[in-house]
Amino acid sequence: MKQTVTFIPTLRETPADAEVRSHQLLLRAGFIRQNTSGIYSFLPLGKRVLQKVETVIREEMEAANSVEIFMPALQQAELWQESGRWYTYGDELMRLKDRNDREFALGATHEEVITSLLRDEIKSYKKLPLNLFQIQSKFRDEKRPRFGLLRGREFLMKDAYSFHATSESLDETYDVMMQAYKNIFTRLGLNFRAVIADSGAIGGKDNHEFMVLSEIGEDTIAYSDTSSYAANIEMAAVNVTYPVSDETARAMEKVATPGKNTIADIAEFFQTTADKCIKTMVFKADDELVIVLARGDHEVNDVKVKHATGATVVEMATPEEVQHLLDCDIGSLGPINLPGDIRLFADHAVENIVNGIAGANESGYHYKNVTPGKDFTVPAFHDLRFIQEGDASPDGQGTIQFAKGIEVGHIFKLGTTYSIPLKGTFLNDQGKAMPYIMGCYGIGVSRVLAAVAEQFQDDDGFTWPNIVAPYEVHLVPVNVKDDVQRELGEELYALLKNNRYEVLLDDRKERAGVKFTDADLIGLPIRITIGKKAAEGILEVKIRRTGETFEWTRDEVLEKIQ
Ligand code: ATP
Ligand code: MG
Ligand code: MG
Ligand code: MG
Repeated sequence: MKQTVTFIPTLRETPADAEVRSHQLLLRAGFIRQNTSGIYSFLPLGKRVLQKVETVIREEMEAANSVEIFMPALQQAELWQESGRWYTYGDELMRLKDRNDREFALGATHEEVITSLLRDEIKSYKKLPLNLFQIQSKFRDEKRPRFGLLRGREFLMKDAYSFHATSESLDETYDVMMQAYKNIFTRLGLNFRAVIADSGAIGGKDNHEFMVLSEIGEDTIAYSDTSSYAANIEMAAVNVTYPVSDETARAMEKVATPGKNTIADIAEFFQTTADKCIKTMVFKADDELVIVLARGDHEVNDVKVKHATGATVVEMATPEEVQHLLDCDIGSLGPINLPGDIRLFADHAVENIVNGIAGANESGYHYKNVTPGKDFTVPAFHDLRFIQEGDASPDGQGTIQFAKGIEVGHIFKLGTTYSIPLKGTFLNDQGKAMPYIMGCYGIGVSRVLAAVAEQFQDDDGFTWPNIVAPYEVHLVPVNVKDDVQRELGEELYALLKNNRYEVLLDDRKERAGVKFTDADLIGLPIRITIGKKAAEGILEVKIRRTGETFEWTRDEVLEKIQ
């Protein structure tokens, strides 16, 4: 590609509203432009990087027997009403109406659409398992779009969904997806960890986030310095500090709903009820069940009231009742601040809860008439502690360290959460209708691009790894008015392209300083400068990442570039 043909609007100044390096450089190097808050256009270079990230993802997904499809972004409200998420998803879901006043959502995620698609098509266990993926724009009206592509309101996601007849089959696919994700992020050169992101009570392995270690990450992960143990800090608190004792198990059994009296049943209870939210955790302290209240902002939809009961409480609290709880109580109870804006309330505080509402961090999932001391035992505050740096790792190997992470991927065992309400069933080998057992697997494609951009850069600009670099070689004839330089540039451009290299030729009539500054900013892996020594057939080669320079003759280029 010739620079006089393409569109690379580089900027000298750092845009004032771009806070993090990846965002600043993506703007300055002319890869993206912002349209409005959280919404971006990809310019030619940005689009090429995006496509390369997609290619890696596609290759690994296909190698793992996931097959590509493409579903609509515009989704009829009825589907979201069937799953219930129309009422619980909150303001993040973009809603709109057609000319006939029918309601729609712009896809924030596609569980409903894909479950409804398959329920009419896959009716026999013989056609399972099935794993399908797509790469598509997602829409989420984030409260705080920030850091450029890292948290957009329209962003590109790879989302995969798997369908199974048995939970063993889901387990298998989950492991395969886990490996595929590791392959993807390793190939992209990212420094990442797969972290446990689920409640210990449901196994602690049913839900993993992939975190790129980065100081600008919004999540905190706790990991062992000598083993592969890593968990989201909230989950680390559960898993590390409060293993389930026999007594806890008995306490949990006591509070189980009729007919459900094992730990597994209680776990399932949380799966199908309170655990509609992202972060419900069953919190345990020694032999007692613990209520954990957590909230971000003072909004009903953001209420993060968490509980570890499920016993005699069956009635749902209305949003007004939850609001009442917030208005009149929690603020005055003197919460103790802990990492991650999670607050534990001391026992007296729990007892004071008006209405005894407990639930998950989404409206519509709160129970009322919860009686502390009856439905669950209230522990003394001093029993509760979040994991800290320096604690022993729960796997017994090494000590815990904290790091900030960017969530680039998330894999999840959904079970029957969507197939039951959406009536996605198949006939099993006994001819009985059963709900699909499902898994879902997401990667933020545009967020990955930004995470790579965050990791591969120096003071002068990007230092893209080959696998995602927009082009492999930057050919820079210093002075295109000089016939020798210009012609040698054209000749090498043709030669490299004919040999399947991706080449960007700076054929602009710009000063040398401008060309070099832009080349460093754009950050292609190899720069070949055609300058004063062109007449002797000598070229100056610079490896962008290391800064190493060499002199090659024109005849050596093909042989040495490999
Ligand atoms: P976060 O905690 O950052 O809000 P999430 O847990 O809501 O992300 P998921 O529903 O798990 O996101 O979606 C799958 C993946 O999509 C995430 O792991 C992340 O990489 C990406 N993603 C989610 N929200 C955004 C966003 N607003 N902008 C860019 N990528 C996003
Ligand atoms: Mg989110
Ligand atoms: Mg998340
Ligand atoms: Mg997530």
